[in-house]
Amino acid sequence: MARRFFVGGNFKMNGSVKAITDIINGLNNAQLDPNVGMSGADCFVDHNRESDTVTEVVVAPSALYLMLTREHLRQGIEVAAQNVFDRPNGAFTGEISVSQLKDAGITWTILGHSERRVILQEESTLIARKTEAALNGGIGVILCVGESLEQREANKTIEVVTAQLAAVAERVKDWSKIVIAYEPIWAIGTGKVATTQQAQEVHYEIRKWLASTVSQEASENTRIIYGGSVTDKNCRDLATQPDIDGFLVGGASLKPAFFDIVNVKR
Ligand code: PGA
Repeated sequence: MARRFFVGGNFKMNGSVKAITDIINGLNNAQLDPNVGMSGADCFVDHNRESDTVTEVVVAPSALYLMLTREHLRQGIEVAAQNVFDRPNGAFTGEISVSQLKDAGITWTILGHSERRVILQEESTLIARKTEAALNGGIGVILCVGESLEQREANKTIEVVTAQLAAVAERVKDWSKIVIAYEPIWAIGTGKVATTQQAQEVHYEIRKWLASTVSQEASENTRIIYGGSVTDKNCRDLATQPDIDGFLVGGASLKPAFFDIVNVKR
């Protein structure tokens, strides 16, 4: 089965009611692939379509704006949290549970973003537990992995990335609701995008790792998307690569450039 192209918008800790509403209105009014002449719900959420022109779009506002976004955003574009906790509802001040996300109509969560791994010191084992909890609760996971510049220069990229994935593989056997986002830390928010070749190389190695560690099926079907300074200018080249199945877009997802990234396969 062809892998459906996937574009995520990670708004991070940006926005206000007004700014998020403007972005929602922009998305609602944009001509997005493959929405021409079709209703959004029909074209975005049919998981059985085998066309690589069909792009799945998911946006991740900060937690405070999740419900606002879900309420006003057109059907067919899904909404993701940027994080979720691994425990059921209870005494966990400041956290949000999987069931609370579901209750609010949220169908995805980002997990393991490098900003959480580095700044909030989230370990791979915690990220793995969160991934397991999200999947068990019926929430899809955009699982971020990536190396620092130091690790890349020490030729440790594949080792680092596969170790981050291995922590999840220890707990999770079914990868069908995971999208892997390869995000080299040195490319995030820096304007320094990985070259097409650098990204393809790592995506290829991740696919190989999936085949040897998870299953041949997971290797063939798991979307591996690239993140790190993706723009409307550089996405076209990256999108031509056989193992790049979409993007996780930070800065550019707050701008109209995001529509062009979503439409890159059109
Ligand atoms: P960026 O962020 O596109 O602003 O580099 C990507 C991300 O962190 O997901």
